[in-house]
Amino acid sequence: MLKRISGLSKSVMDKTRSLLTSEDQPVAALVVPQKDHKISTKTFSANALKVLNRIHEAGFAAYLVGGGVRDALVGLKPKDFDVATDASPEELRALFRNSRIIGRRFRLVHVVYGRDIIEVATFRASHDKGAGGEVGESGRIVRDNVFGSIEEDALRRDFSVNALYYNISDHSIVDYTGGLNDIDAGVFRLIGDPITRCEEDPVRVLRAVRLAAKLEFEIEPKTLSAMQKTAHLLANQAPARMFEEVLKLFQGGYAKRSFAAVKEHELLQYLFPLLAERLENNPPPELLTMLNAALANTDKRVSQGKPITPYYLLAFMLWPDVEERTKASVKNGTSLSEALMLASEQVIKTQLSAISIPKRLSGPMREIWQLQPRLEQWRGKRALKLMEGRRFRAAYDFLCLRAGIENDLQAVATWWTDVQELPEDKQLDFVSKKPAVRGLWGESKESGASKKKRRRRRPNKARNTKVDGNR
Ligand code: ATP
Ligand code: MG
Repeated sequence: MLKRISGLSKSVMDKTRSLLTSEDQPVAALVVPQKDHKISTKTFSANALKVLNRIHEAGFAAYLVGGGVRDALVGLKPKDFDVATDASPEELRALFRNSRIIGRRFRLVHVVYGRDIIEVATFRASHDKGAGGEVGESGRIVRDNVFGSIEEDALRRDFSVNALYYNISDHSIVDYTGGLNDIDAGVFRLIGDPITRCEEDPVRVLRAVRLAAKLEFEIEPKTLSAMQKTAHLLANQAPARMFEEVLKLFQGGYAKRSFAAVKEHELLQYLFPLLAERLENNPPPELLTMLNAALANTDKRVSQGKPITPYYLLAFMLWPDVEERTKASVKNGTSLSEALMLASEQVIKTQLSAISIPKRLSGPMREIWQLQPRLEQWRGKRALKLMEGRRFRAAYDFLCLRAGIENDLQAVATWWTDVQELPEDKQLDFVSKKPAVRGLWGESKESGASKKKRRRRRPNKARNTKVDGNR
């Protein structure tokens, strides 16, 4: 049953089918005129339209392509806009003062409007076409942009639904790969031979899972089978590129659904090996519940246009291992704060073999981990002082997530919720009611008292040294 999401008329759909061979490949382009589809330019951002119109007015071909067209056709609000054209990067650069050429191997043009960037790419042929590269005097390849026709540009894209072109000159949609048919059928299909396409770029396996989950599409059987056969190649992908994908997974507004799909397709081991192993071995059901709550909360924030911090989710996914390793070293006599620091280091190191985590994220992750025992145990004015720290809010939210798994933390999490609602002059009175969780880490319940004793002795020692004249 066709879902007819794109709003194409029956006659147009019949024509689509007749133009496409029954197998994977189309035989010709299908051009759907404006009157036969429901995309309106209103769906596109003003900046994207500005760029398209300027290129068109300068006499070049200008198309919107990729996720923007796909999302508009299924009725989602497109989040970014990619433009494809027959103008060269230099010609584009001359057209837009607010532009820059990026990339060395594939040169693209970014047209910059403040924080909004429209990416413009010259039609490209597939890599294996060979010709078109440029070799410098030293014999080094200085450029391997292989410019091509729009049709070649369509065929080198990943999925049929990602290869639809919206032509700004007449507002038609151009389809070389059967993408419109697949949009209507709700199917995600790799263009060309699926195994070759996955081997060429294994990250497409992750893209398929993420995007199919976002659109709630089925993955076409041959594409799915190729993905299953080649998924293991994800283990050798550059951790930096994997990290980019993970960010898209979490920040696209469909984190909960994408995460479930990644798990279902058994790809979690390539992203979060420690968590994947844990989830396979009868984890407490609360772990998955809270993980889903954190993912759903991220999606909610995205839909409300609120900022999200990826380190928070990353911190939560790695936390069970940090916690377990910390407890093990505390049992062996290491102090809690040192054990936590060492465990954080080890877990991050293991994680880095799968996906790279830039320091700007791993730093805050460690900070909110380190704050956990303090939120649990500190009392008096010292506890109140924690609220002034810049990671307090994230650390407190994190404690609440943990409290969903660990009952013993509920009272202290509630106390933190309540104290924040009090005016400052009332907070000090409330501090005496703060529960302090002890023994959670396997540390001695007396540790607070013995620390005090030690602290009292130290000043004496210091005074003695001074008297001895050693300073
Ligand atoms: P999203 O909603 O995540 O932005 P998208 O499909 O727009 O999805 P982008 O990463 O923005 O994804 O890529 C834009 C377009 O570039 C895609 O729609 C696709 O046509 C093409 N593309 C992206 N990544 C690949 C890839 N790995 N292989 C082939 N084509 C790709
Ligand atoms: Mg996109």
